[in-house]
Amino acid sequence: MPVDENVPLVKLEKDQKIVLEARAVLGRGDDHAKWQPTLACGYKSYPRIVFDSKCDGCGMCVDECPRNVLEIKGNSAAVVEGKIEDCTLCKLCERICIANADTWDSPAISVQTEDDTFIFVVESDGSIPVRQILERAAKDIQTKSDDLVDVLCDISGGNVND
Ligand code: SF4
Ligand code: SF4
Repeated sequence: MPVDENVPLVKLEKDQKIVLEARAVLGRGDDHAKWQPTLACGYKSYPRIVFDSKCDGCGMCVDECPRNVLEIKGNSAAVVEGKIEDCTLCKLCERICIANADTWDSPAISVQTEDDTFIFVVESDGSIPVRQILERAAKDIQTKSDDLVDVLCDISGGNVND
């Protein structure tokens, strides 16, 4: 079926028709890139930005941030509500903060990452919904790791911990 019903395949004039004979081939991205349903994918760690009490609200980090993630709230810098995921972890804010502090040995802002949270970006070509791509990929990884465990079991004579 057409991937997108709003994209015309061909425009027919009155009394014209097309007779089409086609053969569908089911393939896997493993065999050839033309069967990959994903156009782009990537991930990054989930950012966490921490300010310490020596922040004086000078605003240098706000001006330096290329993604407009930061703002001044009261006397201190803060993350703009809903913008944390836009942070690229570039640490320009940390650098400008420490560069302009005479007596500090560490910046008042610290860019960190969550240990167990990631931001995935997956773009489908439309042939399979993104959720299905992720579920299939996760299943594939599980199958491969199960296979690896089986091989390790064989090698170690049944005890994978060996
Ligand atoms: S974190 Fe540093 S650069 Fe940003 S407002 Fe505070 S003192 Fe200024
Ligand atoms: S790490 Fe980069 S993107 Fe994130 S808040 Fe700092 S300057 Fe902005």
